[in-house]
Amino acid sequence: MPRPAISTERLIVLASLFFTVFCNQSFWRSILEHQGAEHAATWLFCSALFIVVTAMHCLLLGLVVHRRTAKPILAALFLMTAGVVHYMQDYKVFFDPGMLRNVLHTDIKEARELLSFSLLRDLALLGILPTMLMMRLHITERPWRVAVIARAALLIGSFALVLAGLGLQFQNASALLRNHKEIRYLVTPGNYLTSAVGVLLADNAGKHAARLPVGEDARLGSSWTGRRKPALLVVVVGETARAANWGLNGYARQTTPELAGLGVLNFPHVTSCGSNTEVSVPCMFSPFGRKDYDEKKIHRHESLLHVLERGGIKTLWRDNQSGCKGVCDGLESQQLDQARDPALCNGERCLDEILIDGLEAELDRNKGNLVIVLHQLGNHGPAYSQRYPDAFRQFTPTCDTADLGKCSREQIVNSYDNALLYTDHFLAQAIARLKAQTSHDAALVYVSDHGESLGENGFYLHGLPYAIAPREQTGVPMVAWFSPGFSSSFGIDADCLKRNADAPISHDYLFHSVLGMLAVDTTVYDKAYDFTAKCRN
Ligand SMILES: [Zn+2]
Repeated sequence: MPRPAISTERLIVLASLFFTVFCNQSFWRSILEHQGAEHAATWLFCSALFIVVTAMHCLLLGLVVHRRTAKPILAALFLMTAGVVHYMQDYKVFFDPGMLRNVLHTDIKEARELLSFSLLRDLALLGILPTMLMMRLHITERPWRVAVIARAALLIGSFALVLAGLGLQFQNASALLRNHKEIRYLVTPGNYLTSAVGVLLADNAGKHAARLPVGEDARLGSSWTGRRKPALLVVVVGETARAANWGLNGYARQTTPELAGLGVLNFPHVTSCGSNTEVSVPCMFSPFGRKDYDEKKIHRHESLLHVLERGGIKTLWRDNQSGCKGVCDGLESQQLDQARDPALCNGERCLDEILIDGLEAELDRNKGNLVIVLHQLGNHGPAYSQRYPDAFRQFTPTCDTADLGKCSREQIVNSYDNALLYTDHFLAQAIARLKAQTSHDAALVYVSDHGESLGENGFYLHGLPYAIAPREQTGVPMVAWFSPGFSSSFGIDADCLKRNADAPISHDYLFHSVLGMLAVDTTVYDKAYDFTAKCRN
């Protein structure tokens, strides 16, 4: 049987229609929600958008797809789009550049945890099925003159339809884009394709440049004269822990029993810089922070750790997750998620206590002033149940799969809270080890990188564009603990800190507070963002 024939242009139009109809449910649902499905005008608006979205994809494909490349490019697009659509619908995520960066930095282990039956089903229906249908087609070969005219007609026609569609509904369209900018990140596959271009351009721009120095004048302040012991500050960067479920913040469940027993200093109103790791981690160690957020600027400059090193304090980044995101560039770091400790690791991942494994040996090796950053795996989803040992399976029933669609909200929250219990234990263990050592005057600061949605308004996981990220994704727990030796030698008044801990602060405070509490003098230090400033003498 001869294979049905089709021109490249027709194939492009068919593929674009397929995307508009089958791959944009999140987009259409969002439009109907914002405009009100009951108004006749909404349907007129949707018709115009249908034309615009289809024509835009025709235009985009028309620029890159040719007779010989059509099948491989479209097959790749069908498959990738199927995966993207699956996660957009299951977890209500938006594919903006931040989300794409997150996905690109996802490691194999994380990807394996995301595999589920429903993903395979969506890949089959939206990816493999259209690919197989397309493979049955024969793409016609035409004289080049005809091919050029057909392509020009497609491009000009698509462009005209985009303009006409937007023009007819100009007021509606501009109002929607003004008030709900993020909606454009629901148009699939345009969302991840344009995000990919943005990420590539940004990454290439910053890749080869050496980092610009920060705090070149950093030096130890006058209070360092006459110290008896070297100083040790442990900064714990948490993962996906949210303020709303933190026992010390008054959550209905006691998810932080050990820390409560230790009487640590708790900061109940802390806002994260980003809604995902890729944004938050570099941001919280930068002098720019969220207040003048500029991703490129942050990636181009040195971090807090470089300033500390310049001031004469050794730094060490210990990681149980996906690395320091450039914060420790050129400085000592240890990747521990591949460790082989049978008690803590299963060959794939390690529990967070691996981060304090051999802590004393590190102190022995680094006898001087030291800042250690511990980067947790924490509450990294969606496989919350794999983040804690059995002893912490206290809230039941739990959700024991990464396919959150198979669990009730109650199960998901139970597993999430169990993982918080384990972070509580890990932090208490870290503090116990710091108390037990006698070589350094020690302190610890813990803050999570961002929060997590657990089904509020249908949202799961994290990574919504910052402007619309709900409080669950940006409200993070933070605690601090100071040994008596650390407090007295740096003149820190713990009671004063406790009285002021209710004040709202943010990730922007980490950079300046660490410089402040360690009495490092530099012109980049800003007292207004140092939560210890009022309580030091
Ligand atoms: Zn994170």
